[in-house]
Amino acid sequence: MDESFERRLTGQPVSPGIAMGTLRVEARGCLAPVTRSISPTELQSEWERFEAALARTENELIDLKARVEKLSGEKEAAIFDAHLLFLRDRSVMARLRKEMPVRLHNIESVYYAVVQNFMEGLRRVGDSYLRSRVVDIADVLQRVLKNMDGSSGGTLSGLGKGGAPCVLAAYDLAPSDTADLDTSTVLGFVTEAGSAVSHTAILARSLGLPAVVAVPGLVVDSRMGQHVILDGYSGELILNPTRETLEHYRRLQAEKQKAYETLVEMRDLPAETRDGHRIRLAANVEFAHEYGAIRRSGAEGVGLFRTEFFLLGNSELPDEEAQYRHYKVLVESCAPHEVIFRTLDSGGDKLPFEESAEKEENPFLGWRGIRVSLSRAEIFKEQLRAVLRASAHGRVGVMFPMVSGLTEVKEALSLLDECREELRQRGQLFDERMRVGIMIEVPSAAMMADVLARYVDFFSIGTNDLTQYTIAVDRVNYRVASMFRPTHPGVVRLMHRTIQAGVPTAICGEMGGDITLLPLLVGLGAKELSCGTHRLPLVRFAIRHLNYAECREVAEQALQAEDSKTIRALSKALALRSYPNLFE
Ligand code: PEP
Ligand code: MG
Repeated sequence: MDESFERRLTGQPVSPGIAMGTLRVEARGCLAPVTRSISPTELQSEWERFEAALARTENELIDLKARVEKLSGEKEAAIFDAHLLFLRDRSVMARLRKEMPVRLHNIESVYYAVVQNFMEGLRRVGDSYLRSRVVDIADVLQRVLKNMDGSSGGTLSGLGKGGAPCVLAAYDLAPSDTADLDTSTVLGFVTEAGSAVSHTAILARSLGLPAVVAVPGLVVDSRMGQHVILDGYSGELILNPTRETLEHYRRLQAEKQKAYETLVEMRDLPAETRDGHRIRLAANVEFAHEYGAIRRSGAEGVGLFRTEFFLLGNSELPDEEAQYRHYKVLVESCAPHEVIFRTLDSGGDKLPFEESAEKEENPFLGWRGIRVSLSRAEIFKEQLRAVLRASAHGRVGVMFPMVSGLTEVKEALSLLDECREELRQRGQLFDERMRVGIMIEVPSAAMMADVLARYVDFFSIGTNDLTQYTIAVDRVNYRVASMFRPTHPGVVRLMHRTIQAGVPTAICGEMGGDITLLPLLVGLGAKELSCGTHRLPLVRFAIRHLNYAECREVAEQALQAEDSKTIRALSKALALRSYPNLFE
């Protein structure tokens, strides 16, 4: 294939915007090999080439081991045993055997993609020993590639740290990688795996980085240093764009920016429908650098502060005092609006709370959210006291994630009561009326909403997890990403049931920032919507062009509908009629 032609790879857009620059393929230790197509008849010879490279690499490693043993001793040389073991790792070989006849690419490029995938898996496990093995594996990969014809060596370091501005391409990024991206050099990112409601995608939106995920063949089809355009609206990665394409995108970028600024200028107008139905529009926040954007976007405070990025983003967990100081800054900067702190929600696809030797088979069903906090009560109480103390400086709410039923709520409330008492004894101030809520994101909690409503002041529906758990579709698995449908009638009915329980209910999942689904959410009776600051001006404009009575009709019909497509179409039709210009 001629490398100089414009080519387009398509994936799923997850964070809007346009990035233009050179591509940096994050190869985690070595550069991507050249890819070429092969015919099925070449499969045998490809395997022979690969076997020969493995044998050469094996000899090299044995030699190396012997040399190191002589120079430094047996213990130091033992690290090469791990290299040798990985060289013929059974799971990698099995995957390679499966992928070769499907992809029909030269074996080094498929091997490269398979090993990238394997390393990504290791990077996500809690065990630091296994994670550290990634370096050894990258080393083996590089050696094997070097021992094959047409391979390339070389190393990369860091995720876009330093260097020229670039668009980052990777097999996948973990949420911790994304949180750590150097946004002064990374203009946007694109991944082969991933999904729209993964925390990686959510963080891209918080960072304001255009992002596209689920691009098949990305790692093997793209080249380091290629000129590219990343379209975070359509989901395209354009390799080697022509002059006309570049011109088109420069114009589009300028137009989008202007349109967005016009929306931002309306930030002081209330989020109220044409027939006077008022919605509180608040921000979802993860990082301190977003605090300025809360006010600039016109948000009425914070509806979801995901505290885990602050708590686990440091090498040590901040203590009560450090948390209090941090929370106080946010609370004061949002006054007179309320800030809702969600207590630690570690686990799932986010950073684990503790490193553990045991890998969780199903992390989303495992040690996550309130379960972690309740089993580490002293640490949980430090966070609760810090939030309570911050409530002395402005309006504060607290909510618990991943609640599955009343027992957890009662336990959490009782610990909160203990914290109140401790602060009274210390003579420290807090707001006695601080609102306490729970996230509704597990179907059993939605089913029990009428009971839970007796114990808390508010609900906040986490549609990302509620969808994942209701229809049993892993939110980060790109193979089932197309099945992730928040408008599934099962999800919509649970949301309705939750709202009907009678306590003020907010929606803080990604659905809350989706202008296509806005008529449905407003019609179901959500009192508050919370979304990323970048989406907020759009949502405000959209609310102001809706009619509440029409939204209610949409919701009523949705509750009778039989499938997700119908519900989506109902909401979209009203959205298109009400604010067509937002879809241009
Ligand atoms: C949700 O699940 O919808 C939610 C808002 O929480 P998170 O995305 O952090 O899991
Ligand atoms: Mg959640």
